[in-house]
Amino acid sequence: VALEAATPIVIVGHVDHGKSTLIGRLLYDTDNLEDGKVAQIIESSKKRGLAIEWSFLLDSLQIERDQGVTVDSTRLPFRLGDRQFVIVDAPGHRQFLRNMITGAADADAAVLVVDANEGAQEQTRRHAMLLRLIGIRHIIVLLNKVDLLDFDEQRVAAVRRSVTDLLGQLGLEPALFVPASARDGDNIASRSDRSPWYTGPILTEALAAVPGADSRAGLPLRLPVQDVYRFDDKRYVAGRIERGEIRVGDSLTIGAQGSVARVASIERWQAPQRDFALAGESVAITLEPDVIPDRGDLLFPPSAKPLKAARIRARLFWLRQEPLRVGESFRLRLATAEHQVTVASIDSVVRLDDLTEQAASEVPPEGFAEITLAAAEAIQFDPFTPGTADGRGVLVDRNQRIVGGAPLLGPAEVSAEHNAIH
Ligand code: GDP
Repeated sequence: VALEAATPIVIVGHVDHGKSTLIGRLLYDTDNLEDGKVAQIIESSKKRGLAIEWSFLLDSLQIERDQGVTVDSTRLPFRLGDRQFVIVDAPGHRQFLRNMITGAADADAAVLVVDANEGAQEQTRRHAMLLRLIGIRHIIVLLNKVDLLDFDEQRVAAVRRSVTDLLGQLGLEPALFVPASARDGDNIASRSDRSPWYTGPILTEALAAVPGADSRAGLPLRLPVQDVYRFDDKRYVAGRIERGEIRVGDSLTIGAQGSVARVASIERWQAPQRDFALAGESVAITLEPDVIPDRGDLLFPPSAKPLKAARIRARLFWLRQEPLRVGESFRLRLATAEHQVTVASIDSVVRLDDLTEQAASEVPPEGFAEITLAAAEAIQFDPFTPGTADGRGVLVDRNQRIVGGAPLLGPAEVSAEHNAIH
């Protein structure tokens, strides 16, 4: 089996709407709890007719995993058929935001859990807004606890309408509504006979239909150089393909220096060798002539160049506890590159309660804004588009602390309207 890229799925929802229960249930029902101890607890509580407290299960998984992990999110891998996913669970609002914008998550799809009995609540709205700002478009709404509505079609339809209205106000159109009971397992990994009126996909089917890295394979090639090393008298250029595909024989432009070379060979780790590789895969290639790219260089087809600008508009997710002011300098991490940048202007600040944009001279702690970054030299980049990760920059301060996420919108000359994430 090839070393395929896992599709990250972020799971969010108002507290107590059943997020932990859902994750526990999903992992268990799809045979993804390899931890024998956990599975044992479940089996024995089942045998004794006890209700399984799924959220305890998740807590125990979280504790185990957090010890070995430095980022403050829990990543729970799970497999569905031949496809690999990773559930990104970020309990708090801050963690969620931090993970999403710093690439710890990079999710393309989200499951928004809504208690069907309570309907959308404050955090439902907040999370939905974050999904929109971050640019996650593929949203599956899991209407949970439908058992509390006795699986009544009309009552489910009513709550579905109200959630659709709320999301519509935020400019979001969910891909799907799945009526479910996470506690009882209805419509999670197996179709419920309590909701014969529901013929749409159950949750696992909905997840299987989420676009993966292969949806990026149709875009022009982008291979950011991670490393260059010599081995057996050959020079290998290594990196992860962000977009597109690469084939032996392809001509590639090497970063800002602009020289062109041909792909002589492609190696993949722990995977059968073939003469091409796709978005999401990590490769090491040899080039002819044997040019030497730098870490951070971008390789791309001569016919499909990225943008190049020294002044770039970015949408900023500001994480620092102190406000951001014009003139501050940071390192901008973009894929494998790092650039020194200065905040040239704060163009508008987005108010979280109604998403309106206002002029402001500073970005408040944990605020959202559109800003212009100025670099000493032109930066090659692709604007952020949902489903891609390489247009998402991260701002790092002098102490290597991540202070903000900055999806790049375009060169500063281009109007913001043109590029805003709608
Ligand atoms: P979280 O805060 O979103 O992680 O919510 P939990 O998973 O901890 O669930 C909150 C409460 O809702 C717990 O008491 C669960 O047992 C209960 N719950 C979760 N899913 C369902 C469901 O499908 N039906 C019912 N009736 N209760 C549920």
